[in-house]
Order: sequence, then structure tokens, then C-alpha cells
Amino acid sequence: MIEIQLTLECAAKLLRELRRAGTHEIGGILVAEHVANSIFRIVDLSVQRNGGSFSRFSRDASLHKGFMRRFHNKTRHQYSRYNYLGEWHSHPSFPALPSSKDILTMCSLLTAPDQVANFLVLLIVKRSIAGKLEASAHAFAHGLTPIRVPLAIYGQDDAITEITPSTQLSLRQKLALRANNGHSRGSTRDASLKQTIYW
Ligand SMILES: [Zn+2]
Repeated sequence: MIEIQLTLECAAKLLRELRRAGTHEIGGILVAEHVANSIFRIVDLSVQRNGGSFSRFSRDASLHKGFMRRFHNKTRHQYSRYNYLGEWHSHPSFPALPSSKDILTMCSLLTAPDQVANFLVLLIVKRSIAGKLEASAHAFAHGLTPIRVPLAIYGQDDAITEITPSTQLSLRQKLALRANNGHSRGSTRDASLKQTIYW
């Protein structure tokens, strides 16, 4: 099983953006450093402040291409160490867990023709009433049921309040996944990120 770490800087950035966005869903893409066999550390994330509503977020791929290009330039194109990890968005009005639609969207991204990643991570975040970060991370891999994976803040462990529901998907989510077996593309997101992905 993989483990996801979030740098303090990224956690602070998320909290700042969540506060600013209020009840609007926001999101973007995650880039990470592969720091050990099964440990991936999120070192930056793009932020799309528009395109979301109270209950929905739709990522515009074109807005994040420049972010990926700058990240690859900054990390000197060491793709096996620094690369695209997956997606994030907020659930200001709902639990910080993937919805059935989120699961279908991730499956669509994973099976997109230009997608060469072995797996993708979906990070769902929200700002708690106490002003802390609540988050969950799920890994999506070909042919496997999505699983919740451990998530920690790198360098500090009390800035995040990780919610603790069952790691099992609900029956509704499993049914949504089964309905997607034909690779139906119900996603509102564009999966046309063209960078080379090794993970
Ligand atoms: Zn969602």
C-alpha cells in the first residue's frame, strides 16, 4: 500500500485557498516527490478557483498545463522522482470523502488514452469549523477497487484532522464503480494532461 504525505507548505496553501473559496468547491492537480518505495510526498498543487459551485467542481485541463510545465522545469525533468500524482478538490459542504461521481471521474482519468500512470491519487479536502484541514486520500489503479490510503502531514502531525469513516466504499459507491465497467465517460473533467507519467 502506498502512503501519501503532504508538506506543511501545501497544507497551509490548501487552508488559505479553502478559507478564500468559502462554500464554493475548488480543486486542481497534485505533484509529488517519490521519496521512498511506497511513499509519495505532495510538494505542490495547482489551484483552480473558478469552475466550481456549492456541490460540484469541474477541472479545466488547460489551466493546469502551465503549472505542470513549470514543475517539470523546476525539478529538471526527473520524471521518475517528481511527477503528477493525481487530483484534489474540496467538499466545503460535504464530508471530505469521494462521491460516487468523483470515483467515476477518477476511473475515467485513469483509463484516458493518454494516461500512462499506474495509479492516481484523489485528495478530498475541507476546512473544519475549527479551521483545521480535514482530508482523505484514495488511490485508483487499473483493475482494482479504489482504496483509502494513509495521509500525513510531513514534519507535523497535529495540523490535520483526518476524518475517520470506514475505509470501505459504501454500497452506493461500489455500484457506481460497477456501472462504470464499460469505461463509460460520465466525467465533466478533461483528462488531456499530456505530460509523461511514470508512476
Ligand atoms: Zn467531490
